[in-house]
Amino acid sequence: MNNNFDIGIIGAGPAGYTYALHASAQGKSVVLFEKEYIGGVCLNKGCIPTKSILHSSEVYKQILNADKFGVTAQNVTLDYSKVLERKNKIVETLRKGIELALKNAKVTVINSEAKIKDKNTVECNADIYNCSKIVCATGSSPKVVKGLEFDHDFLLSSDDILNLECLPKSILIIGSGAIGVEWARIFSNFGIETTVVELAQHLLPLADTEVSKRLERIFKAEKIKFYTQTCVKEINNKKITLSNNEILEPELVLVAVGRTPNITDKIEGVTYIGDIAGEIQLAHYAIKQAIEDIDGIKFEKGLTPSVVYGTPEIAWVGKREQDLEPDSYNKSLVLLSAIGKAHCDGQTDGFIKIISQKDKIVGAHIVSSEASSLIQQITIAIQNGITVDKLKEVCFPHPTYSEGIYDALFKF
Ligand SMILES: Cc1cc2nc3c(=O)[nH]c(=O)nc-3n(C[C@H](O)[C@H](O)[C@H](O)COP(=O)(O)OP(=O)(O)OC[C@H]3O[C@@H](n4cnc5c(N)ncnc54)[C@H](O)[C@@H]3O)c2cc1C
Repeated sequence: MNNNFDIGIIGAGPAGYTYALHASAQGKSVVLFEKEYIGGVCLNKGCIPTKSILHSSEVYKQILNADKFGVTAQNVTLDYSKVLERKNKIVETLRKGIELALKNAKVTVINSEAKIKDKNTVECNADIYNCSKIVCATGSSPKVVKGLEFDHDFLLSSDDILNLECLPKSILIIGSGAIGVEWARIFSNFGIETTVVELAQHLLPLADTEVSKRLERIFKAEKIKFYTQTCVKEINNKKITLSNNEILEPELVLVAVGRTPNITDKIEGVTYIGDIAGEIQLAHYAIKQAIEDIDGIKFEKGLTPSVVYGTPEIAWVGKREQDLEPDSYNKSLVLLSAIGKAHCDGQTDGFIKIISQKDKIVGAHIVSSEASSLIQQITIAIQNGITVDKLKEVCFPHPTYSEGIYDALFKF
């Protein structure tokens, strides 16, 4: 076998497989090493399986509440094994799709752990691969915190939680970032007693504070219990004492306090992309980093949208109010209760907020159905310097949630 390649890539998550496909499209010879599953965390343990289970939980909850929509549903039951079966099928289908794309692109895939020896050499299964360029895209793993080390039985990681064969009666979630919030929504939708503990002042600490406060209101309405400015003081025999001295006895604990890059030492001359680069740990950021490096298509890192899934979705891009001096910006906020489509869907709790500076849009914060897609419209506007007045010239369809964006333009 010829072990000389233009590009050697370690890790086949979104960063690695995107890099491989784009490099191959340029006619480069590529070898891609993956020690677990093609698709990485995103496809196998992250974005996709979580959203699949989330969707099942939303269907369940919606059917339970169907009478609100004039539909009677009786004897509604939940078979969690089928929820998992569906999730596994989706993951498998998508994984096969990427594997096929790599095969068609003539990328050499080696299903084993690889080690970078130097900037042009990779070792795998005692074989040496010579590469003109090496890209390290080995991703990240659930962060281990002192006192909350995973035992994979009671104290679970986001990997463990995907492997639960049946649902617990109650769960404590430590951390209210995107992963913590999404799992809180999943468990709560399934009717599980759910509690969230967050060290910061508000839930979803990276969001605009108004968004965090709205999420807190939504959690209260959903009867998801939460503690902010609180941490775990002690765990003793499955009894959890919080810093406010409350004692909780959940059946399970999900520790979701962030992710650590899978890195030992950085080697000069090697390109690091995706979660391992330790910047923004999102799949679309990993993909854009890969494309930036291989295709030279720049992207504005500060305009990476964030999305938290569930009902309603939460999404934001650009500046938050707390980033700006009080008199340096204008804001416009439209409540979903003013949007026709939101009433039709029974989803009126939320808002669309736009922040501008000197007529330029600099940020948007959305708590709404379809927020994940709405945020893209604003991202395009911000990135292209489209002013509030210019955006007013665009026609928004009716009835849609996007009308909230249009209405917000006239409320500055
Ligand atoms: C529960 C959860 C939900 C998430 N939801 C979202 C979401 O909705 N949207 C979003 O944008 N992001 C989400 N993320 C984050 C997203 O999954 C990551 O940002 C993304 O997977 C990073 O891609 P990557 O290619 O850098 O690394 P990874 O996807 O982590 O892939 C790295 C790959 O490298 C392999 N590898 C590591 N070391 C070696 C080695 N020595 N040899 C060979 N292979 C190796 C690993 O096995 C892995 O397959 C979520 C994450 C989690 C955990």
